[in-house]
Amino acid sequence: MSANDCKIIAIANQKGGVGKTTTTINLGAALAEQRKKVLLIDLDPQGNASTGLGIEQDQRDITTYDLLSGDASLEEAALPTSVKNLSIIPATTDLSSADLELIDNDKRSFLLRYVLQEADKAVSQYDYILIDCPPSLNILTVNAMVAAHSILVPLQSEFFALEGLSQLILTVRDVRQTANPDLWIEGIVLTMYDRRNNLSIQVEDDARENMGDMVFKTVIPRNVRLSEAPSFALPVIEYDSASKGATAYRALAKEVINKAKKKRA
Ligand code: ADP
Ligand code: MG
Repeated sequence: MSANDCKIIAIANQKGGVGKTTTTINLGAALAEQRKKVLLIDLDPQGNASTGLGIEQDQRDITTYDLLSGDASLEEAALPTSVKNLSIIPATTDLSSADLELIDNDKRSFLLRYVLQEADKAVSQYDYILIDCPPSLNILTVNAMVAAHSILVPLQSEFFALEGLSQLILTVRDVRQTANPDLWIEGIVLTMYDRRNNLSIQVEDDARENMGDMVFKTVIPRNVRLSEAPSFALPVIEYDSASKGATAYRALAKEVINKAKKKRA
């Protein structure tokens, strides 16, 4: 198996609170449930993905920051979680982008890409690497886009949701032109969807009309189990396996797996 078989997906949207971290944790866990080996990289200094999977501050000796700065290897940085087949490289506030901004212009967007290329062997142990991006189009998010094969965009089903998307797509184009010509958009997933709310329906219609196939068939409903699960340090499929949130993320995982199959064929 070569490192090419590992699919690297950045979960990105410069808006905060749209479901990036929830999607990273729960898509990751749902892929792991399908016997895929999954590594999450917490690329947000807030460290929400790490916290949501029960990685305490005192377990974060080696973090994404150490990985990017070359002080630790991927193997050293990856921690197992309570979920089988799911590991994570945790983040702390050390990972504020300020330090990275100081690095020489030619290199600073490529830090994560180089790390993953160097760690070829370790990377090939995984079927998926999911990168949880911060709520900004800063140097950290650019690093994720430069390192990834694709980006997956959670879109909150609310007014103005589509407005931020054009800026995100411009950034993707820029990264394609300068650093990562093969970057593609894995898909857009509607989150916090409420079927009883006309606004949700309207955002969905708009997204499907404008973005067509790019929008996943699966929509993630607003589901209280999804918001409760992180405080129990569990992904929703373990916290409440029969919940609507768990069902939705399982369906999303299947779509992601099938897309990969189609693309290879
Ligand atoms: P981001 O990482 O984009 O900032 P989060 O995933 O942290 O967003 O989600 C923001 C908040 O919304 C969190 O409190 C999370 O628990 C909650 N949340 C996310 N998705 C859902 C959902 N589908 N249903 C209910 N609450 C959700
Ligand atoms: Mg987040």
